[in-house]
Amino acid sequence: MTRPTVLQVGRFPPRFNERLQRDYQLIRLWEQKEFLAERGAEIDIVVTSARYGCTAEQLARMPNLKAICSFGVGHDSIAVEEAKARGIAISTTPDVLNECVADTAIGLIIDTARQFSASDQHVRQGKWLKGQYPLTRKVSGKRLGIVGFGRIGKEIAKRAAGFDMDIRYHNRRPDPSTEYGYEADLKALASWADFLVLACPGGASTHHLIDAEVLAALGADGILVNISRGSVVDEQALVTALQAGTLGGAGLDVFEDEPRVPEALFAMPNVVLLPHVGSATEETRLAMENLVFDNLDAFIERGELITPL
Ligand code: NAP
Repeated sequence: MTRPTVLQVGRFPPRFNERLQRDYQLIRLWEQKEFLAERGAEIDIVVTSARYGCTAEQLARMPNLKAICSFGVGHDSIAVEEAKARGIAISTTPDVLNECVADTAIGLIIDTARQFSASDQHVRQGKWLKGQYPLTRKVSGKRLGIVGFGRIGKEIAKRAAGFDMDIRYHNRRPDPSTEYGYEADLKALASWADFLVLACPGGASTHHLIDAEVLAALGADGILVNISRGSVVDEQALVTALQAGTLGGAGLDVFEDEPRVPEALFAMPNVVLLPHVGSATEETRLAMENLVFDNLDAFIERGELITPL
């Protein structure tokens, strides 16, 4: 493909923006808002992210689009079915972020159970001078249920095994590559588990998979950790369960309406709130960025993606 026109859907960090600007014939959508409506037929490739996505409406305005290269592994914000039906190739950045996202899940498990973030506030606010922080919950040796035993779910299990945790998982179907126990019934997994960690994709098939009943099954001593997508959890039901004390705690990296987070959670010491930072380290973001460019270049040179969806 000779000098294709690339549409950048949203802003990335400066290094990424500059590299796109330098190496490709680039249209920045936020700077040329009318471009899609007026000259969408000129676009060959879209560069986007799990956050910005690419909607069916946008796709319809790009009749000659050949590929979508996305930064991130989640693809619930991309109109995948419409793109595939038109033979548009899609790449994401799988695997290079597994370790950091799994580290985040383990961090949330420990922080939520041991309440390190709240204990830190206890020290900073001078409360230690007035008394000890209350006792918290142990992590090692506990039962861990993983919902979504894929690339990231397996890395979480690897780390949790180091904490002698008893591990079971739920997918839509059993994974023959693992010896960990499969639980077809999500509620049964929740009622068995001390910690329920979500590592499945977002989108229609997992919308509110974790509802009031699953939370009730996890119970007053159970802790929910979500590093997948906010849409997987019925957030209102989660707030209600935490307020009522029928759920033991929650460690959340993702929310239904990011960056808006229910304020009812702010004062709860058994809740840890992160601003969607699962993969947000220098090393991993660079690896993700490089993989976007490797996909772009492979598609331009050979018509092939390295990590197709
Ligand atoms: P993956 O390898 O595709 O694994 C997804 C797992 O979820 C698979 O084991 C799949 O098994 C299971 N699954 C899919 N649909 C399901 C359903 N309806 N019910 C139950 N299980 C289901 O994906 P991954 O690379 O591990 O990434 C997982 C997700 O993590 C991403 O889609 C993204 O949303 C999220 N993520 C978050 C961050 C962050 O910053 N917090 C960063 C990266 C990724 P079956 O197909 O057998 O059901």
